[in-house]
Amino acid sequence: MAEKRDYYEVLGLDRDASGDDIRKSYRKLARQYHPDVNKESDAEQKFKEVKEAYDTLSDDQKRATYDRYGHVDPNQGFGGGGGDFNGGFGDIFDMFFGGGGRRDPNAPQRGNDLQYTMTIDFKEAVFGVEKDITIPRTENCDTCDGSGAKPGTRPETCTICRGTGQQEVAQNTPFGRIVNRRACTNCSGTGKVIKDRCSTCGGAGKVKKQRKLHVKIPAGVDEGAQIRMSGEGESGTRGGPPGDLYIVLRVKSHDFFERDGDDIYCEVPLNFVQAALGDEIEIPTLTEKVKLKIPAGTQTGTYFRLKGKGVPKLRGYGQGDQHVKVTVVTPTKLSDEQKELLRQFAGDSLKSPSQDQEHHESIFDRMKKAFRGE
Ligand SMILES: [Zn+2]
Ligand SMILES: [Zn+2]
Repeated sequence: MAEKRDYYEVLGLDRDASGDDIRKSYRKLARQYHPDVNKESDAEQKFKEVKEAYDTLSDDQKRATYDRYGHVDPNQGFGGGGGDFNGGFGDIFDMFFGGGGRRDPNAPQRGNDLQYTMTIDFKEAVFGVEKDITIPRTENCDTCDGSGAKPGTRPETCTICRGTGQQEVAQNTPFGRIVNRRACTNCSGTGKVIKDRCSTCGGAGKVKKQRKLHVKIPAGVDEGAQIRMSGEGESGTRGGPPGDLYIVLRVKSHDFFERDGDDIYCEVPLNFVQAALGDEIEIPTLTEKVKLKIPAGTQTGTYFRLKGKGVPKLRGYGQGDQHVKVTVVTPTKLSDEQKELLRQFAGDSLKSPSQDQEHHESIFDRMKKAFRGE
């Protein structure tokens, strides 16, 4: 396995980056490398790398551990190897002496965790959604109840290793005699031999199934969020508990709204008469249209805040805000009347404003009429 890159390097950040920096960088890179969008061959790998870096650095506790100790084996405590990680000195022993067979082959083993990627719409992420999914997963065979033996029979204890699943091989070395353990060749390390195999699973005890699940996505989830469905991973072995299913969410972008955390951003065009004289305009929010008062003399690029019109907070109460950026659009096609009014306006602007206030206002009124409907 290639050496892992530093998480900060992956996200292009300094070590003192704020939580906000981390989130922003992650969102940018996740979009860039998203396998649905990026068809380069290493996009998926990069996406995973970015995701992993984010998962660690966005969690204060994991980040602190990472800052102190660097990369930790991601399988630790994750159950990826079947939930049989128990730490301690046994593993170090195995590492030096090539063991790997010290575990009791008859001990129950937890099933593997599974991961499922689900793409949902922008508004589904905001308001939550319930979906039915079908996942392929390995389950215990119903016919033999996971034993692999034909119904009515049982797997028998291996006579070669007497059920330990291991054979010892002695070897003379310059350091003395070393006893190596290896998996029993008669029973492949399982400690059991099946004489009459179950015809459904061929003795494996497991079958692949397409399992339908109902998933509830809570309101307020965002790109990359994970939902853990406890016990919905693969079946355990010899009575071990099943693994978990992790649903990783991808959120589609929206034509009008953009999202940053719990806040929503959108951009609305104004014609220059509206900007100059003020107006009341309708703004679509996530749930309804609301009226927004544009004050006279509004400049292009100004933001207005619609409080509480953002995304419901995933944890805790309340919601974010909607930020409306107005862009003043300069007209490209003008009627003769509009041109004439603009010329008069330009001429007026050269005089001092107080000079002919009434005339000035009447021009604005006429412009309002002439440019309405743009
Ligand atoms: Zn079976
Ligand atoms: Zn054996």
